[in-house]
Amino acid sequence: MTELMKLPYAQDALEPAISKETISYHYGKHHRGYVDNLNKLVEGTAYADMKLEDIIREAGQDFPRDGRGTALGTQYCPGNGSPLFVNAAQVYNHNLYWESLRPDEPVGSGMSEAASSYINEYWGSIDRLKSAVTRTATKLFGSGWVWICKHEDNSPFVRATHDAGTPLDDPLVTPLLVIDVWEHAYYLQYKNDRAKYIEQIWPVINWDKLA
Ligand code: FE
Repeated sequence: MTELMKLPYAQDALEPAISKETISYHYGKHHRGYVDNLNKLVEGTAYADMKLEDIIREAGQDFPRDGRGTALGTQYCPGNGSPLFVNAAQVYNHNLYWESLRPDEPVGSGMSEAASSYINEYWGSIDRLKSAVTRTATKLFGSGWVWICKHEDNSPFVRATHDAGTPLDDPLVTPLLVIDVWEHAYYLQYKNDRAKYIEQIWPVINWDKLA
């Protein structure tokens, strides 16, 4: 049984970047829907008592893999995902998305020293990281997610996944931060303007997830 995670802030706490109405639908309808679907699918099966991450890995087993063990199907052929995989992955992806955001309080409070030095070490500046995220988000065709992950040697990278795709399939990669770029994440406020959503989201990004 997987529970809908508690939002770590009030539904209006990310305004004006992300409106209360957007969060109310996104968290209250979409995210809750994936949790409910998942719980119906696992009921009475061997998956019922499994941890969310294990369900995702197990349900992704049927996908073709590359030499490093990464399940190609979840990133490149998302239509092949089973209902169990896509609902479990969407629960996980949304959990990390809500944790990847935080209220901008006090305004302009920015990030910790640790996050700042990690970003500077690998990207040179926060602006270069933001450009990489923006490029990845705006180039992704259709629905998906933009991730900042790290390799085993601690080096980070930006990547996208389609639909319910998640980097959890790669045992050598740790997802640190994610931005939901499905239209339901921004349509109520920004209509089809994904670039505008990304441009406005920076003040509420929880950069400390990188620390
Ligand atoms: Fe979403």
